[in-house]
Amino acid sequence: MNIKELVRKNILELKPYTSARQSHSEGILLDANENCYGTVLPENYDNINRYPDPYQRQMREGVSNLLNIPVENLFFGVGSDEIIDLTIRIFCRPSQDNIIVCEPTYGMYKVACDVNEVEVINVPLNQNFDLDVDAIERAVNEKTKILFLCSPNNPTANLLDKKKIIELTKKLNLIVVVDEAYIDFAQDEGLLKYTLEFPNLIVMRTFSKAWGMAGVRCGFCAASKEIIDIFFKVKLPYNISKLTAQAVVLALKNIDKRNEYVKMIINERERVSRELKANKKILNVLPSDSNFISFKVENPKEVYNYLEKHKIIIRDRSNQFNFSGYLRVTIGTPEENNLFLQKLSEIL
Ligand SMILES: *Cc1c(COP(=O)(O)O)cnc(C)c1O
Repeated sequence: MNIKELVRKNILELKPYTSARQSHSEGILLDANENCYGTVLPENYDNINRYPDPYQRQMREGVSNLLNIPVENLFFGVGSDEIIDLTIRIFCRPSQDNIIVCEPTYGMYKVACDVNEVEVINVPLNQNFDLDVDAIERAVNEKTKILFLCSPNNPTANLLDKKKIIELTKKLNLIVVVDEAYIDFAQDEGLLKYTLEFPNLIVMRTFSKAWGMAGVRCGFCAASKEIIDIFFKVKLPYNISKLTAQAVVLALKNIDKRNEYVKMIINERERVSRELKANKKILNVLPSDSNFISFKVENPKEVYNYLEKHKIIIRDRSNQFNFSGYLRVTIGTPEENNLFLQKLSEIL
């Protein structure tokens, strides 16, 4: 499989901007028009007057050690959302190429395509909200460049069948992106290690969910070195700030804390799920491998509005493709969940 054949010509030929901190980060630095006197910020911001490391070395080494993926196979973005956008811009020619998504799924794939004038082909998930391999294969045409998958999927909350993902990755002459934003909440290690085996597979993770760092804006992906090199070529020179890098390094030293949160959230998820299932007015409660639960009611708008009136904000997903009637609730603290359950039974 030749990845270069899938990349836009202008990207292959792109001569990237060479930033000052690519060549030097030590010495008497009079090369980047920084403020050499210091910063207006308090002193505990370490060297914040200097531009950050364009190679993202600290973060890549930290995640490499944690997840056993070589540094050269890792790339960090301003949230996974930046990686989604970069992937589309690297592989899809505006007004010509297309991507495949399997709805109902995360809305950002389509938004990023709309911004870039890239067509989106929807191959619906099957009855069990899993992949329809035959339908995906039939949908691919000569202009299809990427298959975007989300596992565990948002908003259906389930893991997709790993065997099917691997089968598709082997068979199709496409980039396969697997968004694993919620993988920490699933009893599955995900597909990270397969990126070392399949040159067309990109697996995305984020610090926004289990790590509790949504405000930091940091996500990363693993992929073949060939693809990672292109990400580095196309990204903005200093996409990851020093503050972000510091936060990530600190977080990686605190993995026990993440594991504790994950345990608490899974416990609450199972309890909330049981309580929702016990409510006879709820038409369906989807099993969850993530930190949210989607459930079906007859009157989603009315339920949403009642909860909102009582300052309990959930997500109305009933307008999503093949998802009518469904609401999505994030697992909160036990107190928050109890209030939610109480108000929900009042309206139902
Ligand atoms: C929350 C979420 C993300 C995270 O995006 P960030 O930009 O990393 O915050 C990615 N994918 C899905 C499906 C999500 O639900």
